[in-house]
Formats: sequence, C-alpha cells, structure tokens
Amino acid sequence: MIRIKPSIEFKGNCLRCEADLAAGRVLWQGIHVCAVSECSNCGAEIIADLKAGQALFTAYRIDLAKGTLSGDEGQRRWFGTPFLSSLQHPDHDRTISLNVEQFSRHSKVIILNCIDFLYGHSLLKLLNADAHLRENPDMGLIVIVPRYLRWMVPEGVAEIWTVNMPLAKAQNFYPRLDQLIHAECERFDEIYLSPAHSHSADFDITRFTGIKRHDFSSERFRVTFIWREDRHWFVRRIWVRIGRRLSVVKSLLLRWQNFKVRKLFSALRTEFPTAEFTVAGLGTTTAFPSWVDDRRVAGFDDETEQQMCRIYGESRVVIGVHGSNMLLPSAHAGMTIDLMPDDRWPNLAQDMLYQETDSRMAAYRYRYLPLGCKLSTLALIAIRQISGWDWFRNAMADRKKAGDR
Ligand SMILES: [Zn+2]
Repeated sequence: MIRIKPSIEFKGNCLRCEADLAAGRVLWQGIHVCAVSECSNCGAEIIADLKAGQALFTAYRIDLAKGTLSGDEGQRRWFGTPFLSSLQHPDHDRTISLNVEQFSRHSKVIILNCIDFLYGHSLLKLLNADAHLRENPDMGLIVIVPRYLRWMVPEGVAEIWTVNMPLAKAQNFYPRLDQLIHAECERFDEIYLSPAHSHSADFDITRFTGIKRHDFSSERFRVTFIWREDRHWFVRRIWVRIGRRLSVVKSLLLRWQNFKVRKLFSALRTEFPTAEFTVAGLGTTTAFPSWVDDRRVAGFDDETEQQMCRIYGESRVVIGVHGSNMLLPSAHAGMTIDLMPDDRWPNLAQDMLYQETDSRMAAYRYRYLPLGCKLSTLALIAIRQISGWDWFRNAMADRKKAGDR
C-alpha cells in the first residue's frame, strides 16, 4: 500500500533534469492516481503514476507543460498516451458525481480505486477488497467503483464512492471528480492507496455477488455456453475483424456460432439427458430450439447480472471464448472450458477466477483448449470432465481433502 496522507510516499525523478522529486499533492486522474511534484532544481511540474493497478508494472511520468510522456514503450499506446491526452484535454462535464455511502467511521483508511475503461479490469481490481477486509481490519476500506460494479461491493467496507462514469469515457480526466475525491479525503487523518492488483488470488466470489458457487452434489445441473457477439467462436480471426465492420459477415458468424453451440449441446445431451442446456451472456441474435434454455440478455443491469451468476452457479461446466465474459462464469461454475484464440495464449488464465486452492483440482476444473479445437474433441473433453469428476476427486483425496475453493 502507498501512503498518500498525511504525506505522499513517492520516489521519482524529474523528466527534464532527473533531479529527485518530492510529491506535493495527489491527482485523481481516474484510472491513474498520480503524484504531482514541482522539481526543486528546474521548476518543472511532473505528474507521475503512483504504483497501483497497471501502473504497478508500467508507471508513466508526464511533463504537461512540454507535452512529454515517459515510461514503458510496450504499453504506451493503450495506457500511456491516453493518460497524457486526458490531462491535455480535461473533460469538464459538470454532471460527473461521486455518490458517497458511509457504513462506519475511521480516521485511517485504504482507498481501492476500481475505475478502469475495461470492464474486466474494474472487476479484477474490486476483488482486492476481500484481502483488505481480512488483512487490514484496523483500517476502513473505501472502494471507488463505477456504477455498474456497485452491486458487487462486499459487505464490511467502510464506504462506497460510486462514480457515474460510463465505461467508454473512463479514460477521461474529470477535474470535478478529482475535486470531489479530494474533498472526501479531508475527513481522514491517514490514507493509503491500495495497489489494486490485477489478479487477486485469494477471494471468495460469493462475498461479492451474493451467489453461491456450484454445488457438485446437486443431481440437476446445467451445461452453459457463454455467448458473446463481438468475439466469435470462429477460428479465422480475419473474418471476426471483418464482422465488426460488416453486419452481413457478423450475422453469418453468429449463425455459425449458434449451429456449433447446438451441435456441441446435442453431443453432450446424449450423455446427460437430464441436464439443462443453457446459453447465457450478452447478445440475443439468432434463435435456439426449445430444448435449449436461452437466457441471453440484450444488456446487463444489477438484476440481470445476478440472474446470470445464479445460472453460472447452477452450471456443472461453462464453455466459452476467452475474454472478460468468462470471469464471473468461471468463478461460480463447477468447471470451465476456455476456448483460446491463437493470439491470446499469453493471456492464459487472466479471464478465469479460480475458486480452487488445490492445484490438482484446479487443473481438472479449469481447462484451456484452442479455439479451433474440433467440436467432437471439445464435446468428448467436456463429457469426460463432467462424468469423471467424482472419480477424480476421490482418487486425489488421499493426501489432501479436495476443497470446493
Ligand atoms: Zn527538474
């Protein structure tokens, strides 16, 4: 954690003369929480990332007067340049607001900033709350969340600060939001910034969604495909890219995706005739036969999010194409099969929320297959994964009791 009040814990150098800097104030850019310093040697004002979220790995420094940005070259395009641009073109939208809910009073607090322009990143940051609540009981935990994550804030936090910022504008810098957060910070003697790790390893999803994880002892279960319409179950990525621009191509891809889901379900249905075969997720294009429980939605709100989590929790296995769409399904379902596009292998496991502490059980429960995997192979793996679970768990239970988490 980084102390930001009464003094700011920060080490950095001037962009112009490399002299050591001493931070004078914090700037709440939005995604970035920054230390602002005036160089005692050359007088330049330098805005630098405090190490939280992505900035733990790729922190940037900005000299706003000269319009220069310094930091990791690899992440510059999506993380550095938008940061500089946001400060050069502040968004003076007066409707931006901070809805403050207070549950307990503390003089010493941790602030967990979950603002991000990617849904998955915001959610992953929020998961840090569980560890803070366990490990820092002497401090109050404050979470800053976009409105769409408010429903997932766990009980026990001291305060929730909800920002009415749309995901599409979350890279913007709102000076008004900076002022609103500063005004709230006045109430505390000591403030620490959570590192907001991108992948919190130790958390219980039920504390966030209120929905129980899958019960393996249940006779009835679902097999669920996680539908999305912008990252198709189609191996040739060039057509997926064309589909984003040409609706006729997109329509064909979705029809093909629908056909594959039905074919996969048909194969599994012969093995598990009493299972409920479900399509869940975002987008309602194409239709399914009546034996498929079509739970797709055109858009998410708090209620549909919870309904979806319930469906994931009832699923013995969820299958879907790699992406943030797999986060909540994998967290609640018994088992998961993640279909990996060729270019996403370096991102393995980043879209899975592991709820299993035994590595052998985790290897069984969370599986990764190439997106282009033959449908018959996928069906066979899913069938064996479901039917073999009890045997596997018993076989492995000799040395360590298999945990559900
Ligand atoms: Zn300087």
